[in-house]
Amino acid sequence: MTSQEIQELRNKYYNATLTELFEVQKALWIFRVKPDKGLIPFKPGQYTTLGLGIWEKCVEGNGPETIKPGQEKQLLRRAYSVSHPVLDKEGKLFSPEKIDFYEFYVTLVVNASKIPTPPRLTPRVFGLKKGDRLSFGPKMTGHYNLNGLKNTDQVVFFSTGTGEAPHNAMIWELLTKGHKNPIVSCVCTRYRADQAYRSLHEKLEKQFNNYKVIYLATREKEEPKMYCQDLVVSGELEKRTGVKLDAAKTHVYLCGNPSMIGRPEVKDGQKIYPKPAGIIEILEKSGFTMASPTQKGNIHFEAYW
Ligand SMILES: Cc1cc2nc3c(=O)[nH]c(=O)nc-3n(C[C@H](O)[C@H](O)[C@H](O)COP(=O)(O)OP(=O)(O)OC[C@H]3O[C@@H](n4cnc5c(N)ncnc54)[C@H](O)[C@@H]3O)c2cc1C
Repeated sequence: MTSQEIQELRNKYYNATLTELFEVQKALWIFRVKPDKGLIPFKPGQYTTLGLGIWEKCVEGNGPETIKPGQEKQLLRRAYSVSHPVLDKEGKLFSPEKIDFYEFYVTLVVNASKIPTPPRLTPRVFGLKKGDRLSFGPKMTGHYNLNGLKNTDQVVFFSTGTGEAPHNAMIWELLTKGHKNPIVSCVCTRYRADQAYRSLHEKLEKQFNNYKVIYLATREKEEPKMYCQDLVVSGELEKRTGVKLDAAKTHVYLCGNPSMIGRPEVKDGQKIYPKPAGIIEILEKSGFTMASPTQKGNIHFEAYW
């Protein structure tokens, strides 16, 4: 494609600007996006889509892709939860009117093999710079939000990697609305360097007596290898936070890797849970019920793949 053709496609499809970029590490970014038409309201926990043209270059090191004839002029879109900075520069909870951007927390998924994959978005996103243009989805959507939660409930979030993104927005909302009951966030990553929001949450823990955070890094030599599921099964969650997972007064939110979540398949009316057990199976054994768009429950989840 000529550079003029590329520019025409960009003009046609791109409707937002990347305004801030925080490179946590090479393959993990927090970035902010401003849509040309301004911000639309959303419920913390929801997601939108971001997109770039298949014609855009991938970062170095990404393996081959199978691009069908004509496909190079198409737009690649993926879902992204809206994250949140939570605290402003003065260390106070961000007031909503000061936010004129959407924040995203995204990890690069490269094809490290020589076997071609269908075109991926993140190897293109990680080629962007501050000021570059991209496509922003037409709406904010998703049932993963705080609807139905009462002031008297305890709230426990479990996430893996960038699954922490929607929880930042949800925790901001709870603290801003003055939720007084316990709020706990457990975040599991491979390395500590993958815990981009850790210092923010440690500040929150100091500011709010009812807020507790636990970060787990499964591949750090100095830490025991522990996953979110282990925190629950071993009783470590209660020991570290004082919060008991009591189904009568707790809502649990799970986001990220499907194996942490462990959503069961239903066959002939029977639930078949994946092995090893995810949090859903562990909690359903102690009286929790999985929520769905059509059924109330106190386990809410968003699987990223
Ligand atoms: C509702 C929803 C919200 C999402 N929000 C986010 C978000 O806030 N941040 C984010 O980084 N991703 C998020 N994702 C995943 C995102 O949509 C893309 O799938 C991801 O960025 C990879 O895109 P890709 O085109 O490069 O590769 P894809 O072809 O989409 O995925 C290739 C493979 O990458 C792996 N993968 C996908 N997402 C991740 C991830 N986050 N971490 C590790 N491995 C992954 C899976 O094994 C997947 O099969 C979300 C997904 C959904 C469904």
